[in-house]
Amino acid sequence: MNQVKVQLKESYTILIGDDLLDHAGEHIRGLTSSPRIAIVTDDIVAELYLQRLENSLRKNGFDSICSYVFENGEHSKTLETAGKIYDFLAKHNITRSDLVIALGGGVVGDVTGFAASTFLRGLRYVQIPTTLLAQVDSSVGGKTAVDLSSGKNLVGTFWQPSLVLCDISLLSTLGSDIFADGAAEVIKYGAIRDKELFEMIASSDYAEHLEEIIHRCICIKRDIVQMDEFDTGERMLLNFGHTLAHAIENHSNYSIPHGKAVAVGMVMITKASTKAGITPVGATEALERACNRFGLPTTVDFDLNQLVEICLNDKKRDNMHINVILLNQIGDAHICKMQIDDFRNFICEGCK
Ligand code: NAD
Repeated sequence: MNQVKVQLKESYTILIGDDLLDHAGEHIRGLTSSPRIAIVTDDIVAELYLQRLENSLRKNGFDSICSYVFENGEHSKTLETAGKIYDFLAKHNITRSDLVIALGGGVVGDVTGFAASTFLRGLRYVQIPTTLLAQVDSSVGGKTAVDLSSGKNLVGTFWQPSLVLCDISLLSTLGSDIFADGAAEVIKYGAIRDKELFEMIASSDYAEHLEEIIHRCICIKRDIVQMDEFDTGERMLLNFGHTLAHAIENHSNYSIPHGKAVAVGMVMITKASTKAGITPVGATEALERACNRFGLPTTVDFDLNQLVEICLNDKKRDNMHINVILLNQIGDAHICKMQIDDFRNFICEGCK
């Protein structure tokens, strides 16, 4: 088992291992003396893992357990679901001495974290991430969110969990497509910070090193979040490939999932920065090979001008500039603040 300490105003621990779900009660027991605990999850994860979590909690003295299950999928990451979670917590008399557990992928983690951060002005919560993406990315760093009809993740909070339990054995039930979405983020971590990690995830025996791969990703995110908890500087590095990815998701009406869009975004931006003489030749091909291993796409047949305009309409961007993340080489990246006209040329000329 690996352990990562996140040192922020409130420090917390992330445990990574292959037998954590059935021992969750022991790890969570130390956080509260209350016998009451609330679990939030989705229907697919509930079917697979809820009973085991409840059993472990019961064995460790939690004799008042309530569970809220919502329909799986991004369409549930809404204020409406958050409202239903508030009602559920109120109905079960959850107070600030109790804990909430988010058991599931990034959708469960984001909406549960959001509800926990706002109910009674803030409840402590534990993340038990069950997808690769949630283990390496969304469960670490404390960003919570819900989507609005006008855009993804437009309402949210920074609210750090009290504990994260990454049980890698839970990934065995993931479909290959959903696993691939997480692999795109692993490739991203390797590309921006850790060449060895990049080589590990790109190699044919990556599955034998999954615990180390997840551990390395979490350490990278932890280091970056510790430097920039509220996403005003260094944390932007984590957006490598994401500006174009968000535009691709948006342009496809969200029929292209996030991980696949990130794969295309990383390859496109690296192609452009290689053409501009910033990234050495070969990096684009290395990214393509890594993405191909997981069946991730590396191109889309969209009009470049339209994609650029969507990037420039991003509600979270300032009016004059756009921050893009460029590779110095595989394993090393920097933030480049570009004028918007330069960005237009950079993409439209660079990705031709
Ligand atoms: P998800 O939560 O929708 O999970 C994908 C699917 O996998 C769902 O159908 C779910 O029921 C199923 N599933 C979950 N665990 C399973 C398991 N162990 N076995 C079988 N099926 C399982 O999607 P995701 O990819 O985990 O997360 C995507 C979300 O994460 C997006 O909303 C995104 O905005 C968010 N996100 C947040 C952050 C952050 O910092 N907060 C970072 C990245 C992404």
